[in-house]
Parts: sequence; structure tokens; C-alpha cells
Amino acid sequence: MAAAVGATMTLTERIADGPSGFTGVDATPEWAAEIKRLARERNATILAHNYQLPEIQDIADHVGDSLALSRIAAEAPEDTIVFCGVHFMAETAKILSPDKTVLIPDQRAGCSLADSITAEELRAWKAEYPDALVVSYVNTTAAVKALTDICCTSSNAVDVVASIDPDREVLFLPDQFLGAHVKRVTGRENMHIWMGECHVHAGINGDELNEQARTHPDAELFVHPECGCATSALYLAGAGEFPADRVHILSTGGMIDAAKAAKSNQVLVATEVGMLHQLRKAAPGIDFQPVNDRASCQYMKMITPAALLRCLVENRDEVHVDPETAALARNSVQRMIAIGNPGGGE
Ligand code: SF4
Repeated sequence: MAAAVGATMTLTERIADGPSGFTGVDATPEWAAEIKRLARERNATILAHNYQLPEIQDIADHVGDSLALSRIAAEAPEDTIVFCGVHFMAETAKILSPDKTVLIPDQRAGCSLADSITAEELRAWKAEYPDALVVSYVNTTAAVKALTDICCTSSNAVDVVASIDPDREVLFLPDQFLGAHVKRVTGRENMHIWMGECHVHAGINGDELNEQARTHPDAELFVHPECGCATSALYLAGAGEFPADRVHILSTGGMIDAAKAAKSNQVLVATEVGMLHQLRKAAPGIDFQPVNDRASCQYMKMITPAALLRCLVENRDEVHVDPETAALARNSVQRMIAIGNPGGGE
């Protein structure tokens, strides 16, 4: 976008496009007023995932986890949904709201976990196990969801797998840590797990968790099941090294509810650091500390104040899912919603 020179540049003229996203605009009161004005003018609602930058969470009409936001999108009276999150989440909103315009402020905001399996790879895996049922975590592309029998969230993954005939083989994808958690809890042997991972969650490892648990013996532990440390957390609890009633394996939405019910003054949080902003707002009297303060998702952080402004000014980037793929993907998402407590996904 062309930029004028000097102090008289408008907010829009300050937007710059760089290798890691749109920059050049700060979250000032002027910016906030302009975002609100443009959203009203476009009849748009702004949704923000829990891992977004604090200033994006604060300007949004709704903040939450991926599935809760997609459901809000489907029920919103506005015709345009601005989804501040990563691309597969905006696709899920489009799948559930095919008649609405869904915009993402920067379509380059991907997800290393969703990218760890393509539709072609899933087709080949299914060919190896033609009688198996496919269970996919919601962090997948629309094309992968369309080849899936039942989607799941971290909250209902165990219930989804347990609902399948025990003699039927299961292909579970894409997250190996969530898969290992489900396999351990269900005790199911005929479950094959795709070895995908989220680079952010995999970076929160057991050694760090052990060290934090040792140095904060009175704290509660909130662990997202995609974390490399989820196994360590369960091990510590199982071995009696950390009281089991203080270890909570939770989706991001479940963490907010658990924060309000926490009994300790301090909570160690093992997930992306953006989560701390909503937790501190939900329970201001509790000291929330990250297990790994470097666990920041660069894709989530591509949704900057500049990107959101550009989105509302230029009406882009629009998210498209072809109707046939969307219909198949919708079936697998709706089967997920019907089983157990689906919670909210990532
Ligand atoms: S934190 Fe991981 S799973 Fe979540 S959007 Fe980023 S890369 Fe994907």
C-alpha cells in the first residue's frame, strides 16, 4: 500500500507489508475508534482467538476458543465475520456459516499442526487401512475435514474414540500428543496415530514442566493436551509427585472456566502465552505464570492492528471453501458436536 510522507499520514497510509505480516499501525485510541466505525459500517462482527495479541482480544466483540467462535459466527446477526485467528479456524467458521462473508486479516496466518497432514497424505493413509474410521482434531484444513468421519476437540477426543466400535480400527490425526493421551485413557490398541505436532506446544517439554512443578509446589497446573508436557503432567500426578487434583488437562476454553474455580493462588499454564491475557482478566486475584514464556505462535501474532485495519478497509482476505468440500466437512464437524462435551477445541 502506498505511503505518504510526514506526520499527516492517515492510519491507512501507515500500513506496511513485511515478511512477518502487516505493520506500521499501533493500537491507539484513534485506531480502536476507526476499527469500531468500519466494523459498524460493514455490518461485521470481530472474533478473536485466545492466542491473539492482547490489543486484538480487547477490540474484539467475542474472544474464545476455535469451536466456540465458529458457533458464535454461525449465530451472529451480522453478514460479515472478521476472524482474528489462523486460517483453519476461519475455514471452520465458513463451513458452519456458508452464507456469510468470512474474512481473515492476513491469510498467511497458517498453523504448523494443520499443515502436518494434507488431503493427499490422508487419502494414502486411508488406502492402507480401508476399514478404519478417521478421527481428526479440529486443527485441520477443510479438505482434510472433508475426508474425516468424525472431528474432535481436545475436550471430547476421548469420548469420540470411545464411541467407536472397539473392533474397528481408528486413524487419529494430526496431533501425536493428543493421540497418545487418548490412546492411554481409552487403552485402545487398534488406534493409529499420525505423528504431527504443533511447533509451539511441542516446545513446552517435560523437563521444563518438572522444573516448574518442583519450584512451585503449591501451584495448580493447567496443561493443553497438545503439549509435549501433557504426558509428563499425567506422569507426575500418577507418580504422586504432583497432587493429581491440581493437574488439569484442558482446552483453552476449559482453562477460563477452571481459572474461575481455581483454589490455589498461583497457576502454571502450559500452552501458548496469549492465553494468559484472558486468564488474568477472568481471575485477577490469581498469579498465572507460563511454563514456557517463549511459547508464542508467530502465525497467531500475524493478526496485528495494521492487518485488522487493512481487512476492514479493503474487505479482505476473504476465506472460500468450495460447497462440496464444505458439505462433507460440515458432516464431520456436526458428528463431533453430537458426542460428549465438545468444549471448544484449541
Ligand atoms: S499454536 Fe500451534 S496449533 Fe495453535 S495455531 Fe499456532 S501452530 Fe497451530
